[in-house]
Amino acid sequence: MSRLRRGLSALTPYVPGEQPRDGVPYVKLNTNESPYPPSPAVLAALTREAAGALRLYSDPTARELRLAIAELYGVGAENVACSNGSDEMLAFALDAFIEPETGFRTTDITYGFYSVFASLFGIRLASSRLNDDFSVPVAELISCPEPVMLANPNAQTGVFLPLDEVERIVAANPTRLVLIDEAYADFAPGSAIPLTKRYPNLLVIGTFSKSRSLAGARIGFAVGCEELISDLETVRNSFNPYNLNRLSLLAGTAAARDVAYFKETRDKVVATRERTKTALSALGFRFPDSEANFLLVSHPAIDGAALYLALRKRGILVRHLHGERLENSVRITVGSDRDMQRTLDAIRAILEECKGELS
Ligand SMILES: *Cc1c(COP(=O)(O)O)cnc(C)c1O
Repeated sequence: MSRLRRGLSALTPYVPGEQPRDGVPYVKLNTNESPYPPSPAVLAALTREAAGALRLYSDPTARELRLAIAELYGVGAENVACSNGSDEMLAFALDAFIEPETGFRTTDITYGFYSVFASLFGIRLASSRLNDDFSVPVAELISCPEPVMLANPNAQTGVFLPLDEVERIVAANPTRLVLIDEAYADFAPGSAIPLTKRYPNLLVIGTFSKSRSLAGARIGFAVGCEELISDLETVRNSFNPYNLNRLSLLAGTAAARDVAYFKETRDKVVATRERTKTALSALGFRFPDSEANFLLVSHPAIDGAALYLALRKRGILVRHLHGERLENSVRITVGSDRDMQRTLDAIRAILEECKGELS
């Protein structure tokens, strides 16, 4: 019998994408990781000496990493807080700022962790239905009274909400907090971080997991006005002041400072994404126009579950998501050109087989 306290008895944990352990060398396109290794500067930072220093606690203020992130975005170190992955920062922010009865609002199709955190913290969650083209119903988010959480580009769809629309939501009500989860913003036309200078009710959350090739190092951060960051630090220091370990702090700082490598690998992913869109369209796939490092695709000749399984049999791992309007799609991470070539070859073979079965 579960001994979870009553408030948690209905908790359904987040199910991360599969990290396969069956020994098959999959082309792994299911959790939106980068196909490229971290910057060589990261490896250089993780020396024997750095390992020796593991006997000491890590810097509870994450000073160097905060300075490096602050420099990237042209803000002060007092405008940045760091976390063990951005999932942790999302938890800190919801715990710190959301009144349980008021709750917060997000969209029906988005990152699955928001609703898990809502049930973990006993917070109400309201959700607005995305428009049929998967765009955000901006008017609804402008007029709703509760705090708003948006992933931009959105999770699962990759659709980007232009920054002037984000600003309209933020500006509509200065007493209401708006949280923008920018896990994929580096692949998109822009970030809302500059708006944090003008809007003290805006908090932007980012991660080094997707665009900086450091998913395994678990580095997340938040940028906002000094007061919001100070409140987040209060919660963080009441939970785990050493939330980032020494090796991750070194890795993250080195990655943040290697801007050239970041741009090179990010630009490669974006170029591959655009080529993959063209190839998938030619094969009859439909997908929202993603500005992230993944594509949510569907095809009239094969349903999502069947495509997922057929690709898996051919050594390619993609994500079949569940939920209304998602069942018929799979989400494919944009890998290297070579990964995508293999994937497209496999898809062509699968579609040929489907045709054979029909005739
Ligand atoms: C991947 C992802 C995260 C979590 O990133 P971590 O920093 O690895 O915890 C947060 N939000 C969205 C929308 C994501 O896709």
